[in-house]
Amino acid sequence: MSAPVPALSLSNGPALSPAELARYSRHILLDQIGVAGQQKLAAARVLVVGAGGLGSPAALYLAAAGVGTVGIADFDRVEPHNLQRQLLHDDSAVGQPKVASAAQRLRTTNPFIRVVTHGDGVTPGNAIDLFAGYDVIVDGTDNFGSRYLNNDAAFFAHRPLVYGSVFKFEGQITVFDPASGGPCYRCLFPEPPAAGSVPGCGEAGVLGALCGVIGSLQALETIKLIAGIGEPLRGRLLTYDALRQQFQTLQLPRDPGCPLCGSQPSLRALAPECYAATACALSPAPSMSEAEFPLEISVTEAKQLRDAAPDRTRIIDVREPYELEICQIAGAAHIPMRQIPEHLDTLPRDRHLLILCHAGGRSRRITEFLRAHGFTAVSNIAGGIDAWAEAIEPGLRRY
Ligand SMILES: [Zn+2]
Repeated sequence: MSAPVPALSLSNGPALSPAELARYSRHILLDQIGVAGQQKLAAARVLVVGAGGLGSPAALYLAAAGVGTVGIADFDRVEPHNLQRQLLHDDSAVGQPKVASAAQRLRTTNPFIRVVTHGDGVTPGNAIDLFAGYDVIVDGTDNFGSRYLNNDAAFFAHRPLVYGSVFKFEGQITVFDPASGGPCYRCLFPEPPAAGSVPGCGEAGVLGALCGVIGSLQALETIKLIAGIGEPLRGRLLTYDALRQQFQTLQLPRDPGCPLCGSQPSLRALAPECYAATACALSPAPSMSEAEFPLEISVTEAKQLRDAAPDRTRIIDVREPYELEICQIAGAAHIPMRQIPEHLDTLPRDRHLLILCHAGGRSRRITEFLRAHGFTAVSNIAGGIDAWAEAIEPGLRRY
């Protein structure tokens, strides 16, 4: 059994009006929420960073749930290609600031709550003060610079950060809450990738409904934190594979050597130079080495590379030990994702590293992480061992 979850120190707020009691009756009927839990929601202040694919479902559910103050931070304007997944905005909002469109939608969803807009978005100059004015921060951003800024500012403001991310058909969610003993984003990835080392956020595809799944889970985790119920995803990463319809939970231990929340931190204040450079950087034209070692290759290409030059390639499987027990590729090295940072010195730099996970999402992040740490000969194996089982080794057990 896990330890009881400490609730945020929120007051219960003022009594609910008859109209509010009626509106929230399906919450109140839940024993774990009741009138007291609904009053906590009414007293709570939640900041949603990014009114996009994740922020849309998160903010809509939080507003409908009766979270008393919903803040929306975003500097962007609505564009037509947003509408495939960003349900806060509709066709008539194209060209408007996203915060304006979002606020209008949230106020019509629930007139009993207060909606606060932050049209400058989150910047190194305003982040800590802004976060300190809220009880929970929901990260709905889609680029590395913002993720590190949100993570660091939430740490310094002592606020839990409900993290979500999506890439193509895979999503991830966790709660970073070092103040309650959990890990932070830097425990996982100590440094942002170098500018231009990852594709710009506007360039990757994503399935719209996948954002609905992950953003809704972020709202759900936020409500659990406020009401003090259940087991929040502190120290656990929930991954979702939309194509296989599979969820998995991975343990995320805190890193005592973390540069931010570790025992001897090197970061004692926000580091503005870390955040801007990677914010949605457009990919430069590939250099020779990038052309030679693409960011991502297919399982067929991976097999051809390995067969052609077994001494000059190495497959690194970053899955968890229990996953290896289900299936593995003969000859692949195994380093679980979270241990990669401590293996940087031992990874061979004279070989082409081919990074493998279950479906290609975790390995993609590790590939980006390694490139940010000076490895150029490193490629992600798209589709992971699952694609390998389908195309190369049909005898492998799939999960
Ligand atoms: Zn940390």
